[in-house]
Amino acid sequence: MKILKIDHLGIAVNSIDQARSFWSDVLGLPFEGDETVAEQKVTTAFFPVGESEVELLESTAPDGPVAKYIDKRGQGIQHVAFRVENIDGALAELKAKGVRLIDETPRIGAGGARIAFLHPKDTQGVLVELCERQ
Ligand code: ZN
Repeated sequence: MKILKIDHLGIAVNSIDQARSFWSDVLGLPFEGDETVAEQKVTTAFFPVGESEVELLESTAPDGPVAKYIDKRGQGIQHVAFRVENIDGALAELKAKGVRLIDETPRIGAGGARIAFLHPKDTQGVLVELCERQ
């Protein structure tokens, strides 16, 4: 498995509209618009930072994974995403090493990336996302 870089940090927020004034106006990161991923009940907004990005996540429904996360732990860093060269190969390798996978096969995330999450019980509580982009 080849991890290329930290692709992005996913940050759960109550409101992208409210949060973006810090990330965009205060820190000066470019705001490149938002995108709703209906299947995940989430709206995302990406802010490029050098080679990586900050991803703000706002739930679109009270029963969505981001809403549940905020209910439990409050706003904050929700996941770390590593960009991999070959996500299918990476998932097969991790599975063979006994790592529990939330997504056995990749799904399509924001920006058309192929993504998959690993189970936090096997990663010291950190929700890890793998992501492959063309
Ligand atoms: Zn993400």
